[in-house]
Amino acid sequence: MTSVTTDRLPAAAGERDQRIAWLRAAATRIRRHALTMGEVQGQGYIGQALGVADVLAVFYAREGGELRLRPDDPGWEGRDRFLLSIGHYAIALYAALAEAGTIPLEEIETYGTDDSRLPMSGMASYTPGMEISGGSLGHGLGIACGMGLGLRRLGNPARVFNLLSDGELDEGSTWEAAMACAHHGLDNVTAIVDVNGLQADGPTPTVLRTEPVVDKWRAFGWNAVRVDGNDVPALLDGLDRVRDHAGGPSVLICDTRPGRGVPFLESREKAHFMPVAEHEWQVAHDALEATR
Ligand SMILES: [Mg+2]
Repeated sequence: MTSVTTDRLPAAAGERDQRIAWLRAAATRIRRHALTMGEVQGQGYIGQALGVADVLAVFYAREGGELRLRPDDPGWEGRDRFLLSIGHYAIALYAALAEAGTIPLEEIETYGTDDSRLPMSGMASYTPGMEISGGSLGHGLGIACGMGLGLRRLGNPARVFNLLSDGELDEGSTWEAAMACAHHGLDNVTAIVDVNGLQADGPTPTVLRTEPVVDKWRAFGWNAVRVDGNDVPALLDGLDRVRDHAGGPSVLICDTRPGRGVPFLESREKAHFMPVAEHEWQVAHDALEATR
């Protein structure tokens, strides 16, 4: 079977409501898949996975997802490229790829085990649909810039998305790439920044102040749109403003809450690597199903 999502255009109200319902359901499935993987290994970057699930649903949902892709042909030339530069978010992208149908759902049970195609950090050579190897932070946007230039030269209308973290805004290479994308007028490149206020060394504002984030991107020549990254209708509005922009790159800045969707994790003291006790994974599953 080959299925191709089509570019989404502003929809009639009823169609939009349907799309929102599809995307919210997909976000719950992505959270469920991420919890399943976390339970398999007894660990994982679950706070980030739960926090970014709504963003990933908007792109990867089987029904209503933004990306043009063929789930059974992840190397299709016409696909939109989605670059995960934050390799530790792999658990979240695997959940999204399972939602999209690129990874068989039963395969997520192999997460992080020997010989699995789903290693704990995202690596392109292992996983279908994983466009780049991430983890050495700050390189995704440079690769996106090169891909955007190459696709434009080839006359390929595919779009390039790079999901990066607010911690990656500490990296000089991110801003070099931002300058280059703007210089070349790459309106086929969209950055998505997961602003969860955390990075490995602590809360982002105490490690290295990144605000005002919108002003910084605009100063670099980008069309910058900021939305609540846990609000599906707001994400769709943001995507409309990104899709409609021509002549230069866009950035969708998404404020997200780590642990979103599982109240006791959402209110847990924030940590880059959120601890979850062995008995809590099932409690988290139950809480997710109870709150959706
Ligand atoms: Mg962060």
